[in-house]
Amino acid sequence: MTDLTRLSAAALSEKLAKGDVSSVEATRAHLDRIAAVDGDVHAFLHVSDHALDVAADIDRRRAAGDELGPLAGVPLAIKDVLVTTDMPSTSGSRILEGYMSPFDATVVARSRAAGLVPLGKTNMDEFAMGSSTEHSAYGPTHNPWDLDRVPGGSGGGSAAAVAAFEAPLALGSDTGGSIRQPAHLTGTVGVKPTYGGVSRYGAIALASSLDQVGPVTRSVLDAGLLHDVIGGHDHRDSTSLTDVWPSFAEAARDGARGDVLKGLRVGVVRELPDSGFQAGVSASFRASLALLEANGAEIVEISAPHFEYGVAAYYLILPAEASSNLAKFDSVRFGMRVTPSGNATVEDVMAATREAGFGDEVKRRIILGTYALSAGYYDAYYGSAQKVRTLIQRDFDAAFEAVDVITTPSAPTTAFRLGERVDDPLQMYLNDVTTIPANLAGVPGISIPSGLAEEDGLPVGIQFLAPVREDARLYRVGAALETLLEDAWGGPLLDRAPALTTRGGVS
Ligand code: GLN
Repeated sequence: MTDLTRLSAAALSEKLAKGDVSSVEATRAHLDRIAAVDGDVHAFLHVSDHALDVAADIDRRRAAGDELGPLAGVPLAIKDVLVTTDMPSTSGSRILEGYMSPFDATVVARSRAAGLVPLGKTNMDEFAMGSSTEHSAYGPTHNPWDLDRVPGGSGGGSAAAVAAFEAPLALGSDTGGSIRQPAHLTGTVGVKPTYGGVSRYGAIALASSLDQVGPVTRSVLDAGLLHDVIGGHDHRDSTSLTDVWPSFAEAARDGARGDVLKGLRVGVVRELPDSGFQAGVSASFRASLALLEANGAEIVEISAPHFEYGVAAYYLILPAEASSNLAKFDSVRFGMRVTPSGNATVEDVMAATREAGFGDEVKRRIILGTYALSAGYYDAYYGSAQKVRTLIQRDFDAAFEAVDVITTPSAPTTAFRLGERVDDPLQMYLNDVTTIPANLAGVPGISIPSGLAEEDGLPVGIQFLAPVREDARLYRVGAALETLLEDAWGGPLLDRAPALTTRGGVS
């Protein structure tokens, strides 16, 4: 019998619709896979104890002839930044250990309504601050391609779960690259939608002007199917766009079939220095450009002179917003409380709780953010960063006059070793050089696997960016390139991953 965990969500959903397989069987296969490998991968912080009941309910509804959506019965992993009523939501932090939300995030509610089967909550850097998942208070996630390496971050858990075939689909959040950079490092697909395209209601806020929720999958079509479920207007999120969106699954099917590459103007950023990129990352990127060109695309050099200031601006804007968002973890309203002995005041309790509950990276950013916002420094730091943000937005506007999409490698290097950069914040921050501009400008981005780096055999991703609201274009272009690459490889990149030999010996 087919190993149900190896199927794409699209293929699994076809089998479910035909009655070849039940949701209980599909869900059990994934729970078994989690039991076999997650001791070593550590993609999950919590595995649902009632996923099989949810699956059985979908099977019953299908048998009763209910009208079900295309992903009904397909298992789903959920990044722990998204609150859920039936499982704890910690955002990777000790301060929220065991926290149960009284409501579901909108994307979770929509997934449930569409019949998806939540498998569990995935590991992440604490409050989504990081690029390796090593800042999780619950220990790091390991990259399924090589357990001694990081899966990227902050959504390393969602990416690793999908790459290790523990889940066909996952939800992530992307504030500066946390969906796209882990996709790059694990050979998976990740989409950051247009800002406002997917509800952030119930996504524990990191930096509200940058955060977006999006799909983490193994194919562009699967990402489109999940985006169709979670996207669209939500009156509970004041930044939610009221647009009526086209079907992104249709866009992906269109791209895979058609000739969207003919005449497509693909922009390459002149100022992104080759020097900062690992040789194998640059080589894979250039090979993809050649393939695009051979199939009718026109490669156009564009200038985005302010991209290089993106990281600096982001690491002022993000801490500023985060310091404000995290003020609600005050020992009174949510999560843990530490009461020092003696006559402790409210301030003492708050300080002791935050000291014990927050990790180093979170403290670092709160200090940075409050400093950048303080009187006398506001204009010099926060104000300047916001001006840079405007300049980056103008770079995009000008570039999109000349090209249909912009492309970059999704990150400068392949997966690095656990421990290698965790004590060097600047090195960690520089991972985000190609992903951050999209968050600062609110434009959508997709990362798809582009190949393996020759020097280490690890996956590399290519990123496409489109103008605001043009997410469908990314699905078309992404699916077109994915089809060409997979034809050349003879199948998905993940089929070429070394068998996941866990320390317990299971593969
Ligand atoms: N690496 C980025 C950061 O540390 C990514 C954050 C994110 O997208 N959640 O801020």
